[in-house]
Amino acid sequence: MRETFLGRTGLRVKRLGFGGIPIQRVTEEEAIEVVRRCHELGIDYYDTARGYTVSEERIGKALEGVRDDVVLATKSGRRTSEELLDELDVSLRNLRTDWIDVYQLHNVSSMEAWEQVKGPGGALEALLQARDDGKIWHLGITSHDPAILTEIVRESIFETVMIPYNYLTLKPEEALLPLCQEMNVGTISMKPFGGGVFSNANTALKFVLGEERVDIAIPGMMSVAEVEENVGVASGGLELSEAELELIEGDKEELGSQFCRACGYCQPCPQGIPITFLLRAEGQFLKRMGWRPGTEERFEDAIQRAEICLECGECEGRCPYHLPIRQLLKETSASLGRLVDERRALT
Ligand code: SF4
Ligand code: SF4
Repeated sequence: MRETFLGRTGLRVKRLGFGGIPIQRVTEEEAIEVVRRCHELGIDYYDTARGYTVSEERIGKALEGVRDDVVLATKSGRRTSEELLDELDVSLRNLRTDWIDVYQLHNVSSMEAWEQVKGPGGALEALLQARDDGKIWHLGITSHDPAILTEIVRESIFETVMIPYNYLTLKPEEALLPLCQEMNVGTISMKPFGGGVFSNANTALKFVLGEERVDIAIPGMMSVAEVEENVGVASGGLELSEAELELIEGDKEELGSQFCRACGYCQPCPQGIPITFLLRAEGQFLKRMGWRPGTEERFEDAIQRAEICLECGECEGRCPYHLPIRQLLKETSASLGRLVDERRALT
């Protein structure tokens, strides 16, 4: 598999890393099997977060005994020094280690949040202290907004950035990736598969790995088959065929930029509306899984729940992609309702 240096951290890692979100959704036994298969096949960068429920614990269990062979990266969304130190200790225990190779500030979504982090009593104080104490070796930051990261990178504090990058999320190419290259900051692509909406995962991964200014891609993986497939792509040629270029164009046309990436930041909705499920029901759920027993009822239930939307807009304020969620919920509900009616007429 291809390797690279992760910016000025000096860490030499495979360009395919492991994204730790989906192993929350399988059993512990399955999760451990997936992580161990990654290690067997040479993946050496493992990304997780304090916010991913059991993910750290599972990775810690799976990689105990091979700690020195791997790079562990985790993150905290806490903004004060005290809170961050508490979370760091939990992460160290969960990951069964005395140090975190790359510790990241999670989802810094505004300059106000950044000002809080670096102000008196802010999380940055704790990060620097923990680095002096040897609990953290390198500092990273993550955000869904490349403009914010571009500003923060200029302050020369962080050695890595993590950002969504894929063929429908190209904004990082404008300023962030060139700046990171100039400043030798490591770049990590999250959501290489656009949250699972793209037509072909292999093509999407090739696209991301084909961008040399991206050091690592960290697709989420929850089965051994997915691990093997991704390792195959990361070990093979990256040139996109004519057919793959056409497929990318097709996705661009169909999805535009207004599609849900399943990041979940819009939740919780005060009315309990399953926003992510509704926005992805047709393009992702139905396209991949087809109609199954109970699908019609599940759609109808979600449509009914969307009817009690208060139009408060809280979800939109939190969506890092600035999606017009209220409008999209209306359109999606109408379209799903039509699909259910058509299905019922046929069966
Ligand atoms: S606008 Fe509707 S969907 Fe969004 S948070 Fe408010 S109630 Fe929930
Ligand atoms: S609507 Fe926006 S915030 Fe919510 S899951 Fe989709 S992309 Fe994320």
